[in-house]
Amino acid sequence: MRQLIIIGSGPAGFTAGIYAARAELKPLIIASSVETGGELTKTTEVENFPGFPDGIQGPDLMIKMQDQAEKFGAEVLYDDAVEVDLTGEVKRVTVGNGTTYEALTVIYATGSAYRHLGLPEEQTLSGHGVSWCATCDGFFFRQKNIAVVGGGDSAMEEATFLTRFADKVTVIHRKDTLRASKIMQDRANADPKIEFAWNKEVIGIQGESAVTGVTLRDTVDGTESELALDGLFIAIGNDPRTHLVHGQIDIAPEGTIAVEGRSSRTNLPGVFAAGDVLDPTYRQAITAAGSGTVAALDAEKYLADLDPELLARADGNTPSEPVTASERVSA
Ligand code: NDP
Repeated sequence: MRQLIIIGSGPAGFTAGIYAARAELKPLIIASSVETGGELTKTTEVENFPGFPDGIQGPDLMIKMQDQAEKFGAEVLYDDAVEVDLTGEVKRVTVGNGTTYEALTVIYATGSAYRHLGLPEEQTLSGHGVSWCATCDGFFFRQKNIAVVGGGDSAMEEATFLTRFADKVTVIHRKDTLRASKIMQDRANADPKIEFAWNKEVIGIQGESAVTGVTLRDTVDGTESELALDGLFIAIGNDPRTHLVHGQIDIAPEGTIAVEGRSSRTNLPGVFAAGDVLDPTYRQAITAAGSGTVAALDAEKYLADLDPELLARADGNTPSEPVTASERVSA
């Protein structure tokens, strides 16, 4: 049994890992089988993370965080948590290969997932013109005619970024006013390549092997129309990844994990949350990192107050030799 398992490997998970490892809690970080590093591994330049005045590539930032956590003794497991039992004194986390790990504390830092429109073609044409990540896929749409769905900051950011590549970007929004902040709206409004399709929702996506267009429905009068397109970027928000803990951990009205005050403490003793999974508002790499710090300190305090006999049972950590981030990338 371990003292601490951290589920998630974004800025929250790895920062919690750095703090917990330095406190000699020998954390096991369950880092995902495909997406170690979280959402930042899908971005390019990160210009607002303190300490990098010239910016840093998102994947590089995450590798540095992982290396820092491993340097102090965190063990990183490249697998997904598929089942958790967090209600008892001993927490159990089962991963994709069927192994169950036990720990006295768990930090839940699973982030959030891009929201989908709910259309069947979204899946079949994903990677063939349907995308959730302009920075990942924008390059493939040089001189193309594309659209972005959504009216928030993400949609404005994606649309503005995509004008670097595309000839025309249509923002499809279901209302006639944007939710985005004024500065992001102004930037999009001033861009000659951006047009707006107001009061429209996407009800179908056309294309066999690649997107050729969408069917729109007017949200005011219900009329339907077709829009020819080469690509569709969906930027309608994120949902916190809480599905594993439903029925175990209290969820806030916003859908995020509920925590006590400014702490990371959930309703379950020994279970802490960090990062976007508890944050419906700020959702920045640096706020997630700060939140990971809070969770590690809360976990450390909880462990320090536990019965020494129980704690002694968690001293039997026998971590396997971890693969470092640099080895993983060069492999
Ligand atoms: P938001 O929740 O702010 O906006 C989501 C948008 O998508 C809304 O306009 C919403 O419409 C629309 N939408 C939601 N569901 C659907 C649907 N099923 N079909 C069609 N449209 C839909 O999410 P964001 O990702 O834009 O932003 C999340 C947070 O991150 C915000 O706090 C934002 O400020 C922040 N952020 C900040 C950035 C920055 O400052 N650089 C960049 C990106 C995000 P409706 O308005 O009708 O509800």
